[in-house]
Amino acid sequence: MLLVKTVAELDRILIPYRSSKSRIGFVPTLGALHEGHLTLIDESRKVAGVTICSIFVNPTQFNDKKDLDKYPRTLEKDSEMLESRGTDILFFPSVEEVYPGGMETKLDVDLNGLDKFMEGKFRPGHFEGVVQVVHRLLDMVSPTDLFMGQKDFQQSAIIAQMIRDLKLPVLLKICPTIREESGLALSSRNTRLSREGRNQAATIYNVLMSIFKRKYIRSVDQLTQYGQKKLNQDPFKLEYLEIVNGHTLQLVKTINPNSYTVVCVATWLEGVRLIDNIILTKEKK
Ligand code: AMP
Repeated sequence: MLLVKTVAELDRILIPYRSSKSRIGFVPTLGALHEGHLTLIDESRKVAGVTICSIFVNPTQFNDKKDLDKYPRTLEKDSEMLESRGTDILFFPSVEEVYPGGMETKLDVDLNGLDKFMEGKFRPGHFEGVVQVVHRLLDMVSPTDLFMGQKDFQQSAIIAQMIRDLKLPVLLKICPTIREESGLALSSRNTRLSREGRNQAATIYNVLMSIFKRKYIRSVDQLTQYGQKKLNQDPFKLEYLEIVNGHTLQLVKTINPNSYTVVCVATWLEGVRLIDNIILTKEKK
């Protein structure tokens, strides 16, 4: 695996792949890698001639400075994990490399309001930073294929919209959420939970699954109230639990088998913000 810090170096390495029109797979991450990230690498390796993973803790997407400072940084271990999974290039640029003109320049893109709901309400400026950095990384790496996780459902929807709006020549593949045996979605933030907290956090998945099982026998209001109550009682502190249309992210009133609906949640446990979601129904193609 090649370790690359600059765009100039990356460009040089990618010359043969670009000139032979080989597919270039890209997995952007914040590091502190786990099996969820590694399955994105696996997906890329299935289709691409070269797989690049970036590790960049992007300051502009952290609305909370403390969260940025506390974000785990484990480059050596990450590098070993990526290598063992057959990643070709680990790209870990500096802030100056990513933002040579400073971090202020914001991207002009129509997100169709997708950034206004859920995470957008609770993390002001977060998606602006995400869109800015993913656009910049795509510009630097020029991949043909981009791999992201359903775990961050709203983020993936927003990046899909950015790609559509700016007509970027890249294919986005959204890959299923990888979970612990307990059902807890893997996340770099889980390492900040105590052993007990980690056990309690499995309730999030259990509640989402209860909603899934009752989606046709309870009203959206009943399902939402049930989930909100469960994930706002001790030891949890709920931010939101919403049943939304998977395309528009707007609240739905009913669920039917031919609609695209998702239940999304963000809740706090032991000072750690945890998010998760489950697709309830998806229209047949
Ligand atoms: P992050 O480093 O947390 O920004 O995540 C980098 C990419 O990995 C994003 O596309 C995430 O959606 C994806 N990801 C994070 N956790 C998981 C998971 N448990 N399963 C699948 N993909 C994930």
